[in-house]
Amino acid sequence: MTRARLAALAALAALAALAACASAPAPVPTAPAITAPAPTPTAVPASAPAPAPAPAPVAELPIEVRDAATRILTATLAGNAAWAKLTHLTDRIGHRLSGSKALDDAIAWATAALTADGHERVAAEPVLVPHWVRGEESATLLGPTPRRLALLGLGGSIGTPRRGVEAEVIVAHSFDELTALGDRVKGKIVLFDVRMPVWTEEHGPGYGAAVVYRYRGASAAAKQGAVAMLLRSLTARSLRSPHTGSMGYEEGVAKIPAAALSIEDAELLARLAAAGAAPRVRLVMGAKQLPDAPSANVVAELRGRERPDEIVVIGGHLDSWDVGQGAHDDGAGCVIAMEALSMLRKLGLRPRRTIRVVLYTNEENGVRGARGYAAAHKDELTRHVAAIESDSGGFAPWGFSASEETSAARLAHLARLTTLLAPIGATRTEASGSGTDVEISLAGSSALLLGLGVDGSHYFDYHHSDGDTLDKVDPGALSKNVAAMAVMAYALAELDLP
Ligand SMILES: [Zn+2]
Repeated sequence: MTRARLAALAALAALAALAACASAPAPVPTAPAITAPAPTPTAVPASAPAPAPAPAPVAELPIEVRDAATRILTATLAGNAAWAKLTHLTDRIGHRLSGSKALDDAIAWATAALTADGHERVAAEPVLVPHWVRGEESATLLGPTPRRLALLGLGGSIGTPRRGVEAEVIVAHSFDELTALGDRVKGKIVLFDVRMPVWTEEHGPGYGAAVVYRYRGASAAAKQGAVAMLLRSLTARSLRSPHTGSMGYEEGVAKIPAAALSIEDAELLARLAAAGAAPRVRLVMGAKQLPDAPSANVVAELRGRERPDEIVVIGGHLDSWDVGQGAHDDGAGCVIAMEALSMLRKLGLRPRRTIRVVLYTNEENGVRGARGYAAAHKDELTRHVAAIESDSGGFAPWGFSASEETSAARLAHLARLTTLLAPIGATRTEASGSGTDVEISLAGSSALLLGLGVDGSHYFDYHHSDGDTLDKVDPGALSKNVAAMAVMAYALAELDLP
């Protein structure tokens, strides 16, 4: 594990600890925050840390499993059923924030689609979710040179008074710098201009280290008397589009409005402030927290032929932010899991154990879906043997990342299974985290928890922004993900885990 990855994990641990004392929903870093993208096998430098144990020859796996994998790969790569599903979800339903009608529509659509594909025990399992609405919002630079700024309020933020909040902007590049500003913060709008680095194979996205400012920035600024908090969007590349995401308020600290600015606008304000031009901004936000709304996790099964009570979960999250189309995050993950199950059924491949699709609700701003699943399935929690989550986008897959505590024997088993995916190059394994939903929903089990690992080099360009649309997804890469998930789910449900 690289130092950068450790730093990202430490930042996440700090976030998790903070959640306990926050009145808002827990922070919900998406999978890439936990699972730093890994290099492709061909690009690993000789000096790179050794990944998982070397895979044993494919010949060690039973011929039936190898034959099944070949059939799955051939049929999946020849079709585009996942793409058709994602097209419907994104173009006909669109983005799907918790509490919205669109999320209800997505739940109804997914339930119908899984039923139409002939699956067993299809159900929408009720969960109450937080219901935050954005309302009208704007940010205007009043001087020295007036112009509109590109902003998106952060999920969970309070709104401003109707006429807005107007103040001078003061810039901090870190929490330490904010502290050093002392009383100068009082009555001002704090801008956290914290740069997220460009993704590299060695360091991953750097999201984990930056997301703490989104989550904790407002309360940190409020403690020093700020009237609002602006955040440089969490992305390394920008065409002036702001990126939203969840934030929280520390208990006992005044709540102030919080919003993300595009990188370009954050840098403009920072330049003006550094030049002594004292930029003034008016921020207007109509955000509101409404009473919890009904929602649901969608589940469906391919029942096991020998041990139907033992379960392998595959899934993603059906909710999204209220911008773009939620295509990579996480429409892709949902249709990958749906189509993986449908492909196995179409091919007549019924493994020994049950494979269950779970499309979680409310991953983005509350994780109530994962918690609801854990509660609804507590009697069978220990019968979950494995889970695969896809929540890193629909980019080309490189393999699987297991939760950090996975045993060496299980990692070796995983490495052996991924040899089945050599034809699509998805053979890399590591133990740097699986995914938020499976880690929370199956925390009480001893299941092997996996995240489907994909090329992460552009995920955060689109993440939580208006840019997360269907055109950013490559149909061929999506099919490879379906193949990777179907083969791995089948192998995990068919063979015994160490
Ligand atoms: Zn996500």
